[in-house]
Amino acid sequence: MATTVPGDPPEPLLSLDDRELRRLGYRVVDLIADHWAGVGERPPITVGEPAALAGRLAEEPPEHPTPVDDVLALLIADVLPYVQHGDHPRFYARIPGPSNPVGVLADALASGLNVFVGSWTGGSGPATVELVTLDWMRRICGLPEGSEGAFVSGGSVATLNALAAARASRLGGHDPEAVVYLSDQAHAAVARALRVLGFADDQVRTLPSDADLRLPADATARAVAEDRGAGRRPFCVVATAGSTNTGAVDPLEALADLCAAEGMWLHADAAYGGPAVLSETGRRALAGLDRVDSLAIDPHKWLFQPYECGCLLVRHPGALAQAFALHPEYLADVSGGHEEVNFFDRGVQLTRGFRALKLWMTIKVFGLDELRRAVEHGLALAEHAERTLRAAGWGIVTPAQLGIVSFAREPPGAPAAELDRLHLRTVAEMQREGTAAISSTVLRGRTVLRMCTINPRGSTADVERTIAALDRAWAAAQAG
Ligand SMILES: *Cc1c(COP(=O)(O)O)cnc(C)c1O
Repeated sequence: MATTVPGDPPEPLLSLDDRELRRLGYRVVDLIADHWAGVGERPPITVGEPAALAGRLAEEPPEHPTPVDDVLALLIADVLPYVQHGDHPRFYARIPGPSNPVGVLADALASGLNVFVGSWTGGSGPATVELVTLDWMRRICGLPEGSEGAFVSGGSVATLNALAAARASRLGGHDPEAVVYLSDQAHAAVARALRVLGFADDQVRTLPSDADLRLPADATARAVAEDRGAGRRPFCVVATAGSTNTGAVDPLEALADLCAAEGMWLHADAAYGGPAVLSETGRRALAGLDRVDSLAIDPHKWLFQPYECGCLLVRHPGALAQAFALHPEYLADVSGGHEEVNFFDRGVQLTRGFRALKLWMTIKVFGLDELRRAVEHGLALAEHAERTLRAAGWGIVTPAQLGIVSFAREPPGAPAAELDRLHLRTVAEMQREGTAAISSTVLRGRTVLRMCTINPRGSTADVERTIAALDRAWAAAQAG
């Protein structure tokens, strides 16, 4: 009896023939172009009902093929309408992701060509582009030559990796007596990174921010001295360089002095605010950014990249490798020589895509000057929002800082809890009405509203239209 040899399938598996691939590809490009042409006409945020969405989308994994045009039709009808458009010209909530079309196409290329930038042998050309782009970021932020870094998913992972490097470099490893300092305005990503790294709550000193919502350097120095006196090991300060709440920047110069004197590592969370250094105003606000040991900056926010693109820069060559490099036997063939950077030694990811490509192409195609003007426009829009809000009778809680303004109404005699509720209801009304998206936060115990105006395709007219909608929403909240 003849043995059966499994034959090759009659058609290659998991493939599209060339004509079909191109036809579909053009449809996908058309969808992307339609998005860019029409995003401002749609509501900035549409939220679906869990049961309704599951009702249309939940199913057993399909055993048999579905025509691709039907799949696209389903996507267009039942999935894509239910999103927030962080790139909408009137999306001012939280921190927008304005993106840009060149970055989008670069991302499509990186994915379409399945570029691997984990090891030098796996992608030496792309790794070189990543090194070049990191060097651009280093120059923009003012760090010295030789500083290293890597592109990651975003500010959260950049901060996680930075704190791992800080610990490896300053402590050599886990130390239950080690202490980190930050303010009550630090992003939750910092606390989460510390939790993941195994720091206990009593190793994280969250200090009250000052009247300008900044980490006070003198109080930090006192806390450090107190902890040293108690036999603990202060090793790191996390400064916020552009808080998500208000755009406030911690006093980087004074904190850098403190860290230098105390042998501590200074990490700056510049995830959203960092790109402001491109502008004169931003450079003044961020004075001292060039003195940090590490910083996290998010190109997927104010450097206009599609999600995901975060960037970590570290002043000390080798500090990331000290935290992350391992040399397993199955990677011996790709480890390469000294000059050959293996990005898998600089973070938690082994397999990693070509995140630098979108930023590199954006800067090449538009030029840094256009990015600078885009950042400056965002700063100017926040100032315009502040003026327009004042004229409309809103109280300014924190003035325009790095593209963020926060505001509230304080009608005399209204109880605080009722006002907090009215402000929250105003945000919900805005979302229901669909002209623009703003968001709320809590500052000094009170609910306030905020706008973050970093989309360079937004206009002063968009700001005015939004504030008119805000006044309607406030009235509706009071009536409701
Ligand atoms: C957005 C942000 C983060 C978190 O970054 P992700 O890119 O969302 O991971 C951290 N810190 C600040 C100040 C931010 O604005």
